Amino acid sequence: MVIKEAKFLMSNTRVDLCPAPTKPEYAFIGRSNVGKSSLINMLTNQSKLAKTSASPGKTQLINHFLINDDWYLVDLPGYGYAKVSKTSRESWRKMINFYFQERENLTCVFLLIDSRHEPLQPDLDFVNQLGTIGVPFVLVFTKTDKQSNTKTDSNIAAFVRKLKETWDELPRIFRTSATKKAGRDEILEFIQEVNLQ
Ligand code: GDP
Repeated sequence: MVIKEAKFLMSNTRVDLCPAPTKPEYAFIGRSNVGKSSLINMLTNQSKLAKTSASPGKTQLINHFLINDDWYLVDLPGYGYAKVSKTSRESWRKMINFYFQERENLTCVFLLIDSRHEPLQPDLDFVNQLGTIGVPFVLVFTKTDKQSNTKTDSNIAAFVRKLKETWDELPRIFRTSATKKAGRDEILEFIQEVNLQ
């Protein structure tokens, strides 16, 4: 897919205030600092479309972008930032759950996982949450340029082993590096295929 246009539409905390659910929607989420903004900017070929928050975990907004006048890309607030209060963590959880359950045009969630780490509990918990709600999702292992392919492979394999403990069906897996622009074509092709279904 060629990205002809990517524009910011709105940020808000309420699902009922999101743009009319008339186009397929793809949401991006992960632990804070996983490389979400960098990935969104890489996908849309823009350097500053998604902004890194100056205070991670503080802005808990659902950010909508319109791509090619055809589909919505949504930047969701991340999880796992240590300095966030219990209250904001709880409001984040409520908002995200509500979004997953109510957003009728939500087509697929891209769950970003830092490929440098062995499986982390917050990520496993989040996958289980998505699976339980029944939201279609794929996994994106980010920052693959940061270590050898062997290390990336073994971290992904370890994550998959953990998933197999609970789930029969495994999600599709992508590997990306925003620095090297790797994984971009695969993700855009996937979105195009799903949009055509
Ligand atoms: P966010 O908080 O999930 O939106 O993460 P950012 O996109 O702001 O990235 C967090 C940090 O990781 C920044 O310093 C980025 O430059 C760096 N980063 C993000 N993606 C990559 C990547 O693919 N490779 C490398 N080497 N660094 C990355």
